[in-house]
Amino acid sequence: MLEIKNLHVKLEEEDKQILKGVNLTVEAGKVHAIMGPNGSGKSTLSYVLSGRDGYEVTEGTATLDGVDILDMDPEERAAAGLFLAFQYPVEIPGVGNMTFLRTAVNAQRKARGEEEMSSTEFLKTIRARAKDLKIDQDMLKRPVNVGFSGGEKKRNEILQMAMLEPRMCILDETDSGLDVDAMKLVADGVNALRSEGRGFLVITHYQRLLDHIKPDVVHIMSNGRIIKTGGPELALEVENQGYEHLKAEEA
Ligand code: ADP
Ligand code: MG
Ligand code: MG
Repeated sequence: MLEIKNLHVKLEEEDKQILKGVNLTVEAGKVHAIMGPNGSGKSTLSYVLSGRDGYEVTEGTATLDGVDILDMDPEERAAAGLFLAFQYPVEIPGVGNMTFLRTAVNAQRKARGEEEMSSTEFLKTIRARAKDLKIDQDMLKRPVNVGFSGGEKKRNEILQMAMLEPRMCILDETDSGLDVDAMKLVADGVNALRSEGRGFLVITHYQRLLDHIKPDVVHIMSNGRIIKTGGPELALEVENQGYEHLKAEEA
C-alpha cells in the first residue's frame, strides 16, 4: 500500500543529506514501527511523507496504492487517504472542534469527488466515535485544542483520525515525552482503528509504546537508512541492548 523506494532527502536550506536511501513497504492491515536513535531521520521521513516545506527529495519514490504522493500538496495527500498525527497539535481559537472536523471530513469527501456528509449523519458518526474513544461530548463543542490538556489533545487527534478514516496513518511520537497515560491513549486509539484495509506507520523512540501497540514489523533507522527489519522481538532487543550493537552489526 505505502511503498517507499530508495528515498533520499536533503534539507532545502543547507546542503545536508538526511535520508540516504530508505526502503519500506507497509501492507494494508499491518502496523509497522520505526525505532532508532535520536537524529537518525525518523521525523524527517514523516515530514516528507506529509508534504512539509523545507525538504527536498533528491532521489527515490513514495507511492500510496501505486500513486506518487511526493508531488501532491498536503490536502491531496489527505484526500488520497494519508493521515499524519502531529506531535504538537495546533490550537484554533474561535473554531469549534465539531465545525472543524465537519469541514475536514467534507473537504476530504469533496476532493475525492464524493457527496458531503449530511449534518445528521455527521452528528451520529461523531457521537459514536467520541463514545468509542471515551471523549466527552463537551470537548466536541470547545474550540479546537484550546486549553486542552496533553491527554485531551491526544484523544482529539485520534478522533480526527477516526473521522477521516484514512488508508494509511503515520504517527510520530518520538520526542514528545508522552507520559504513560497519553501513550496508552494513542495505543488504544490505534488498536481501535486497526483494520484489514488500513496500514499504520508508528514512529517511536520508546519501546514502551510497542508494549501497547503490537507491531507486525519493526524497523530500525540509523543515519538516514533502515539498518534492520524484524518482528516485535526486535523492539525488545533494542530495549535490552540499545542501538549500538545494531550499528556495529550493520558496519
Ligand atoms: P529523529 O526524528 O530520528 O530524531 P530527525 O528527522 O528529527 O531525526 O533529524 C535528522 C537529522 O536532521 C538530525 O541531524 C537533525 O538535526 C537534522 N535536521 C532535521 N531537520 C532539520 C532542520 N530543519 N534544520 C537543520 N537540521 C535538521
Ligand atoms: Mg529527534
Ligand atoms: Mg523525531
